Amino acid sequence: MKIVVIGSGYVGLVAGACFSDFGFDVVCVDNNQTKIDNLKKGVLPIYEPGLSEIVQHNVQAERLSFTTNLGTALKGAHAAFIAVGTPPRPHDGHADMKYVYAVAEEIGRHADGDLVVVDKSTVPVGTGDVVERILRAANPKGRFAVVSNPEFLREGVAIGDFKKPDRIVIGAEEGWARDVMTELYSCPGFEGAPIVHTSRRSAELIKYAANAFLATKIMFINEMCDLCEAAGGDIRDVARGMGMDSRIGEKFLNAGPGYGGSCFPKDTLAIAKTARDHRVGLDLVEAVIRGNDNRKRAMAWKLIDTLEGDLAGKTVAVLGLTFKAHTDDMRDSPAIAIVQALLDKNAKVRAFDPEGMENAKALLPGITYCGNAYEAAEGADAIAIVTEWPEFAELDLAHLKSKMSRPVIVDYRNMIKPGAANAAGFVYTGLGYPKGSLARQSYYPAVAAE
Ligand code: NAD
Repeated sequence: MKIVVIGSGYVGLVAGACFSDFGFDVVCVDNNQTKIDNLKKGVLPIYEPGLSEIVQHNVQAERLSFTTNLGTALKGAHAAFIAVGTPPRPHDGHADMKYVYAVAEEIGRHADGDLVVVDKSTVPVGTGDVVERILRAANPKGRFAVVSNPEFLREGVAIGDFKKPDRIVIGAEEGWARDVMTELYSCPGFEGAPIVHTSRRSAELIKYAANAFLATKIMFINEMCDLCEAAGGDIRDVARGMGMDSRIGEKFLNAGPGYGGSCFPKDTLAIAKTARDHRVGLDLVEAVIRGNDNRKRAMAWKLIDTLEGDLAGKTVAVLGLTFKAHTDDMRDSPAIAIVQALLDKNAKVRAFDPEGMENAKALLPGITYCGNAYEAAEGADAIAIVTEWPEFAELDLAHLKSKMSRPVIVDYRNMIKPGAANAAGFVYTGLGYPKGSLARQSYYPAVAAE
């Protein structure tokens, strides 16, 4: 079976590489010439563990190729996956569908046989109908079926997630398209991952509902984190005790500085907008969006207060910039809000991230980028651990302290053992327990005022 994947970013490139690794003939298409030129030279546009090896192996095996020319790529294809971005529209937060619709129109113009057009991008309910109309308008004689097949991979572990998914959701309206998709996902590589067949609209909604639920779980534990700080519990124990309940589950119960990334912020905004358009109130999701936005900005106060409120001329070493570990993705990272708040207070910021610094430079100019954590700590009045890169749990604390002006650590990911930090002479503040931390009220002026 020949597959074309349009959009060679975090989802499209992983999907294309993994399908080819399972033996399919795959062409990855992108309209960014530089990306495609680099991919042809073996240079990947993103950091994703294990991806480079899979790409290299399948290019050599002549199962995977790259092009900017969709027309050529579509020749003889059975399925075309749309995996372009659906970023939030600046004015109302709804998913901006212009990239998906542009690709649909281009597919319509070039398709030359029966083609299953698969929406892998995260798209609002009803998008499949619009894509179908665009295809038919562009190519009235073409035989198309539009399928929704949302992607659930997580950056950083994307290969494992794609190859061994918890479930594969296929929303197809036509039998022949369902058959093509079932054949694709029944190949031995997917090792019997459960396939959920639904209507196209249900499939589109499953993706948003899942992400809104996960975002809610994160916001929930973060609120419990604040309550622990104010009332005297320890969020790590509370989360463990909650997570052992099989109805709740232990995942997504790590308190932190708020969710970020390319999915949860935009998908919660988009589902809330969809609901409003349908005159349905998603009060819970709206509250989660508001709470998470407030939290990201408020998190800087933990550090500002630790440094007695006056940051002018002080130096903060920020360890970790990406929205989570094992990716170079900076989209909506909590680090952006935290660093911005520090700069607003006239602090000097020295930062280190193992993979994210190139992407960070465009978003966070005016800070000093360093080669490692110890270099970032030089002359610092405090260290802020913002992303949970495992190497930050292994820092040589004595060496770190020797570099700093003041031995202060604010650990937004609870990575360092408080006892070890204190024994090394640090003033240490983690998240979600009272000692050395601040009550929720001081972060949320609106709540305090009530
Ligand atoms: P991305 O920005 O990394 O990649 C999108 C790619 O599409 C870019 O390389 C861009 O150049 C290309 N593109 C745009 N218009 C094009 C066109 N007309 N023709 C060819 N290529 C074009 O985006 P992403 O993170 O891979 O996300 C893609 C979709 O998948 C989004 O809807 C997202 O919500 C969803 N998704 C993302 C993740 C994730 O972890 N990143 C997980 C699940 C689902």
